[in-house]
Amino acid sequence: MKSFSVEAALRPHIRSLKPYSSARHEFTGEARIYLDANENPFKESFNRYPDPDQQELKTLISKIKNIEAKRIFTGNGSDEAIDLLIRAFCEPGVDHIITTPPTYGMYKVCAAINNVKNIEMPLSKDFSVSADEILKQVNSFTKIIFLCSPNNPTGNSIPSEVIIQILKQSGVLVVVDEAYIDFSAHKSLVTLREYKNLIILQTLSKAYGLAGLRIGLALGAEEIISTLNRIKPPYNISSASQAEAIKLLCKNRWQEQIAVIISEREKLKYELTTLNFVKKVFPSDANFLLTQVSEPKACYQYLKANGIIVRDRSEEMHCSGCLRISIGTPDENHQLMKVLRDYKYSAA
Ligand SMILES: *Cc1c(COP(=O)(O)O)cnc(C)c1O
Repeated sequence: MKSFSVEAALRPHIRSLKPYSSARHEFTGEARIYLDANENPFKESFNRYPDPDQQELKTLISKIKNIEAKRIFTGNGSDEAIDLLIRAFCEPGVDHIITTPPTYGMYKVCAAINNVKNIEMPLSKDFSVSADEILKQVNSFTKIIFLCSPNNPTGNSIPSEVIIQILKQSGVLVVVDEAYIDFSAHKSLVTLREYKNLIILQTLSKAYGLAGLRIGLALGAEEIISTLNRIKPPYNISSASQAEAIKLLCKNRWQEQIAVIISEREKLKYELTTLNFVKKVFPSDANFLLTQVSEPKACYQYLKANGIIVRDRSEEMHCSGCLRISIGTPDENHQLMKVLRDYKYSAA
């Protein structure tokens, strides 16, 4: 097992960075009169700055996910966590990350914005990840390996043995994006506490139904989480988002909804395979189905003309002919199938 030290892996100036200390950091607790933050004093719903540490929200997430609050970073979407991780560990123009296309596009974009090179180690044709191939690419400039499981847009999961081999033998930070984990029969890897180089990304945007609130999670070793907290914008999650997330998570509607989405996924998967222009529906551990059709562009346009928008992924590596179809409500899926059954594809 290769050793990993957060201290040594961080960019030197981040190691010694003194974070901005906001008014709400310097005084916590209750006071009679607040004259410390230049806020408008007249009471409105939002005249005060939010809690920069999102403590109440983290306490609730900590209960739901059974993870200590100090191992949770909450960001303005997972995208903020991806950006902060790259900025904390990768020296622009020097270091690189490794990604496995076809996969979520933000790793590459965040790396490019930060002038950090992205080394691509494509998935094999069956969408599997080879630990050996990835490990061969690792050198002293490799700072982060991004793995997405279940993967977007392919829908498959990476076996935990493969991820563990990479964790053990790479000696670099491994970020496992579990945005779709709640739709999967596989367990989250967040319990693998012995690996200090593991960060898990999750989000309230998919299974929890809160995409509009923009709350993403990074979970893992306290040393990395505390670094993300030091470099984030102090008030990165608004009071409105924090309050709504707490309110809606307490209603606990997601478990029921996830069950419906999973059963609809399996039903829709079967129904799609009965259509003559559908060549393949890939197995999915997520809330979408990667579906290979005979003429993806024509099929996309036909659905669009009928008021249904899916995602054309046919230009992605290993995804020729593929549309990515999110699972809707039972009624929406029914309407999708009705429209698709009328689609006359004739192989000319
Ligand atoms: C949707 C998605 C996210 C979520 O991003 P947010 O910024 O939290 O909404 C993260 N990773 C993957 C792979 C996704 O598909």
